[in-house]
Formats: sequence, C-alpha cells, structure tokens
Amino acid sequence: MADIHKIAFIGLGNMGGPMAKNLLAAGFKVTVFDLNTAAAQSVAAEGAVVADSAAEAVAGSDCVVSMLPAGKHVAAVYLGQDGLLNDLPGGALIIDCSTIDVATAREVAQAAEARGVLMLDAPVSGGVAGAAAGTLSFMCGGSEEAFDQAQPVLRAMGKNVFHAGDSGAGQIAKMCNNMLLSIIMIGTSEALQLGTKSGMDPKVLSDIMQASTGRNWTLECYNPCPGVMDSAPASNDYRPGFMVDLMCKDLGLAMENAEQVSARTPLGKMARELYEQHASAGQGQRDFASIYTTLE
Ligand code: NAD
Repeated sequence: MADIHKIAFIGLGNMGGPMAKNLLAAGFKVTVFDLNTAAAQSVAAEGAVVADSAAEAVAGSDCVVSMLPAGKHVAAVYLGQDGLLNDLPGGALIIDCSTIDVATAREVAQAAEARGVLMLDAPVSGGVAGAAAGTLSFMCGGSEEAFDQAQPVLRAMGKNVFHAGDSGAGQIAKMCNNMLLSIIMIGTSEALQLGTKSGMDPKVLSDIMQASTGRNWTLECYNPCPGVMDSAPASNDYRPGFMVDLMCKDLGLAMENAEQVSARTPLGKMARELYEQHASAGQGQRDFASIYTTLE
C-alpha cells in the first residue's frame, strides 16, 4: 500500500477549511485550491501552500481531498477536458467528502478507475464543530484498496470511519441518515410542542422521553426547544449548526434517489415539504432545529 505524503485539498469552505487544518496538524504536506481565494488563504497561516488552480494543487500529490457544495461542482473539478483526472498519476487516490448524488459519485469513480486512479466517496457527519475538532464520521464507498489507503488521511480528520460498500454507498448511507434525522427532528418538535401547549415543562418532558421509548439523538444532543439545552442551536437563536438549506439539499438528493429506485418514503417526502416551506419563508440560513418554530 502506497503511503500518502502530499495532499491536494479542493474546496476550503466551512467544512473543508478546518478539515485541511487537521491534515496539516497531522503532518501532511497540503496544497489547497478554492475558487474563493480568501477561503484558500484561510489555511495558509497553518502551513498550507495556496495554488492558483486545481491542476497546480494536484501536481506532485498522491491524494486529492475535495469538499465541494454539490454534484455539479465535483463533476466540474474531476471530469471533462479540464478535469483533474487528466492530471493525476495512476495509483493516486481521490477522497471526495462532499455530499452529492449517487449517480455523480459513481460516474467520477468509474472515470477514475479507467485511468488507474482510486476513488472513495466519503461524505461526513458531524458538522462544522466535528470538522474543527477532528471528530467527523466518514461513510465511505469504494474498493477495499481505496478504503485502506485512505485510512491515515481520514483518521487525521475524523473519529469514526465506516466502509459502507462499493462506490456510491457512502452517499447512500449519508442520504438515508439525513432523511431519518429530518423526520426525527420534526417528530421531536411536534411532541415537545404538544406537551408544552398542554401545560408541561419542556425540560421535564424531554427528560421523560429521553428515558422512554421516544429516546433519540435530538433529545440527547440537539433539543429543538429553546432553553432546554444550553449547547444546542435552539438556545442560541438557531444559529447553525446545520443549516435548513443544507437539509433541503440532502432531502432533495434522498427523494431523487427514492424515485430512481422506486422506494416509498412518505415521511421523507413530507419532511422535505416542511423544510422547503421553512426555507422559502426566509429561514434557510438558520439551524435545521428551527423547524420547531413552524409548529408553534
Ligand atoms: P461551503 O459552501 O462553505 O464550501 C464549499 C467551498 O467550495 C467554497 O469555498 C467554494 O468556493 C468552493 N468551490 C466551489 N466550486 C469550486 C471549484 N470548482 N473549485 C474549487 N473550489 C470550489 O460548503 P460546506 O458547508 O463546507 O459544505 C461542503 C460539503 O459538505 C457540502 O456538500 C455539504 O452538503 C457537506 N456537509 C456540510 C456540513 C455542514 O454542516 N456545513 C455537514 C456535513 C456535510
């Protein structure tokens, strides 16, 4: 197995910036590129070399990590005449951590394989806080060889690293998890609204449900009712955290995929409608727990 020494990091936004910093802290040489120069410069102080183009960033690199908004950006970076697949040597490894559609993840992986380049789709869970703390969960799709080779890079940025299956499986796991999360968030919000409107203290109700069969992650770590949990976005004016717009994006990916594979997802569909309405009401930049306020 080839050791990875030099990494090109493409996309230094809210997530990519802190992730690249953790790679530098772990001792990797990192060259970065972002269309937004200020975003790329944000990691220069930690020792990253800032390149003028993606092609310049990958020159001499044995691994590329990308953290881009959506499938079209990932396709634009890797595929086509100007795509990075033309610049990478055989045996190089691509780790795409963006949350994107399964079809694009598989398309890039197939094109990479045709050129002897390994590719892993490795979307993450854990948000900006997890990216900064180096405690992200990675859900990986790709060959055993790609998964094994990526270990030191992923371990420098995260705590849990799962091999979900073949190419695209990481994106499938991420989309299923986030669809479930949206449904749980809405369900928890409904229960808390019903209880408080009926006269109960939301903290007492949360404690009871957390010790009963309604127990779930939102009650444990991310209570949507303001004042119940100091560390949760709800107690901080719903500052994100994980934005409503990003949840809408993920639910869009899940519903698109559900249609393609003829899966019945009535609650996912309803959750998407409620989150889309919330975003249309100007709440897209707030934390996704703010769906609680629409049920008041
Ligand atoms: P962001 O918008 O903050 O960052 C994306 C960066 O990519 C930007 O700096 C942008 O300039 C850059 N970019 C776009 N096209 C480019 C190109 N062709 N070449 C180089 N750079 C380019 O987004 P983010 O919050 O960092 O999220 C990135 C991905 O991670 C998304 O797919 C998102 O769904 C996923 N994600 C985000 C979170 C979160 O809490 N923010 C959590 C889990 C997963």
